[in-house]
Amino acid sequence: MLDYLIIGQGLAGSLLAWTLTRRGRQVRVLDDGHRTASSRVAAGLINPLAGMRFNAHPRTTDWLAAMRSAYAALARELDQPAFVHAIPMQRLFRSPEQVRFFDRQRDNPAVADWLGARFGPGEADPGIRAPHGGFLQSHTGYVELPRLLDGLRDWLHGQDAWRQVAVDLRTLRITPDGVELHGERAAHLICCEGYRMRDNPWFDWLPLQPDRGVIQRLDGPRRLCRHIVNGAHWLIPLADGGYRFGATHAHRRLEGPVSEEEREALDHGLRGLLEDPTRVTVVEEAAGVRPATADRQSFLGTHPREPRLHIFNGFGARGALSIPWHAERMADWLLDGRPLPAETDIARHA
Ligand SMILES: Cc1cc2nc3c(=O)[nH]c(=O)nc-3n(C[C@H](O)[C@H](O)[C@H](O)COP(=O)(O)OP(=O)(O)OC[C@H]3O[C@@H](n4cnc5c(N)ncnc54)[C@H](O)[C@@H]3O)c2cc1C
Repeated sequence: MLDYLIIGQGLAGSLLAWTLTRRGRQVRVLDDGHRTASSRVAAGLINPLAGMRFNAHPRTTDWLAAMRSAYAALARELDQPAFVHAIPMQRLFRSPEQVRFFDRQRDNPAVADWLGARFGPGEADPGIRAPHGGFLQSHTGYVELPRLLDGLRDWLHGQDAWRQVAVDLRTLRITPDGVELHGERAAHLICCEGYRMRDNPWFDWLPLQPDRGVIQRLDGPRRLCRHIVNGAHWLIPLADGGYRFGATHAHRRLEGPVSEEEREALDHGLRGLLEDPTRVTVVEEAAGVRPATADRQSFLGTHPREPRLHIFNGFGARGALSIPWHAERMADWLLDGRPLPAETDIARHA
């Protein structure tokens, strides 16, 4: 019998499986072939200061440390080049009001270290429109998530810890000593289905706020920008010479192909960001759904009535930064009974 059966091999299920395996537990991950994996669509952007007001989550310093250490350890374990590309970010002010938010944060010792020099209108990378100027931000970059997911899938597969299955939770049997599902027997089940947790009858009561997004891959001249540029939209110069550009947000239509409306929104954003948008061509586009939550905190914990059922989800738009730290906390809870950080524990909604 397995110790843990995990549903979903997105970044959450993958990193939790890796963490539990490193702590000596036997796991198996069931995934439907990344049918709806937002981790495959995501840009993997690392940005400690989110939103219009440049606020940081109080745990950001811990997240950054855990993220660096986990992705470095994974590169060694999988014998691959580094997954993280550290690139400073030019943060563009969207309005004069945002300059005041920046000034306020400069006096905040918790985040002041991440705020670099301010620059004036027209002083961003050549070709970037910055009518209100901006500032340089450090501790930013991106994680190559598709390569990481492929590597982890192969690693899990190599130890008989991965299977392609479209899980139907109506067939779950909970017995006195464990769970049975799709021919697997395990002491515990952990659900990591991304936004499809809304179809999970055991956890559909949690306040998920799925957030669909579209991003594009652009071809364009090298050195269009040297930094990650982040204003109303972001543009990431990729190691292979292309660019990632995004993203949209939508809460009503979650599924289906990229719509004309979404394309137009990105096109409008690109015209706002580049002096000459004809220098780039869209070569790929993809849509996915962020597993965002009503209170912007993740969902970790154990079902209130079924102690063998657990959830590890709700990482919203910042899974690349926050999942490694949360995977350690989830393992501490499952293996040692150490209390979960209160803000993530699903007990807050029970
Ligand atoms: C457009 C876009 C841009 C983004 N950009 C960023 C970014 O720059 N930085 C960042 O940190 N985050 C970003 N995100 C968010 C990021 O994708 C998430 O935070 C994170 O990847 C969520 O990982 P997950 O494992 O919880 O979910 P997912 O990646 O969605 O993984 C869930 C997995 O479970 C599988 N699954 C679900 N149900 C079943 C079932 N019943 N049976 C079998 N398999 C099942 C799915 O197919 C999938 O493989 C972005 C998201 C989108 C959509």
